[in-house]
Amino acid sequence: MLLVDSHCHLDGLDYQSLHKNVTDVLEKAQCRDVGFVLAVATTLTGFRAMTELIGERENVAFSCGVHPLNQDAPYDYAELRELASSPAVVAMGETGLDYYYQQETKVQQQASFREHIRIGRELNKPVIVHTRSAREDTLTILEEENVEACGGVLHCFTEDLPTARKLLDMGFYISFSGIVTFRNAEELREVARYIPLDRMLIETDSPWLAPVPYRGKENQPAYVRDVAEYLSVLKGVSLETLAMTTTHNFSQLFHIDSARLTATE
Ligand SMILES: [Zn+2]
Ligand SMILES: [Zn+2]
Repeated sequence: MLLVDSHCHLDGLDYQSLHKNVTDVLEKAQCRDVGFVLAVATTLTGFRAMTELIGERENVAFSCGVHPLNQDAPYDYAELRELASSPAVVAMGETGLDYYYQQETKVQQQASFREHIRIGRELNKPVIVHTRSAREDTLTILEEENVEACGGVLHCFTEDLPTARKLLDMGFYISFSGIVTFRNAEELREVARYIPLDRMLIETDSPWLAPVPYRGKENQPAYVRDVAEYLSVLKGVSLETLAMTTTHNFSQLFHIDSARLTATE
């Protein structure tokens, strides 16, 4: 069995006291059958530092992008395109809209979001979308920019069922994080029950949002197993089936050779 953490900020973990280094984190993940990780960027400078920190590894892929909450200073779209062209980069993002924390950069967020989709289409790399308090605009931009041409995932899903339906209609994948295990997340569990298994991804969004029973502590890729276990019960399938399906979905969406996603004993 091989599980994938489809979204984590591997550069944001505590390497001072909790982990020795990236290899240590990946070994802890492997111990719980989490054999592959997608390391997600939030700025271009951060992307450079992150790829340097992690290096080239068989079990880690990268995304490249500028997070909607990092739009207070302009950045160079040509530079984004150039960095994203690297074969090590399998996705654009994370991108999207966050009006919950930042209303005043709406215009920049939208422009940046559109640009990520355009480059994604050009390079044939799917987009990793973050959305908060911006449901309508997110759907509108995805549609207007014809995101279906490159595909994508709505990461750390916390929206409602009608939004999920529209995303599924656009060919999107829906990714669940540890939030689905939280006591007060009944509404989200309702959505998770509805999402077809073949369109589902799992993630940690480490270092944030640790699932129960680690809630409040630092999150790490190993804990995507707890998200998987929880979802398998919710969906009424075995953990093996949930692992196999979400790993297959991951390989399909991000065009990652399934040979790289095979468990090594
Ligand atoms: Zn996010
Ligand atoms: Zn994230």
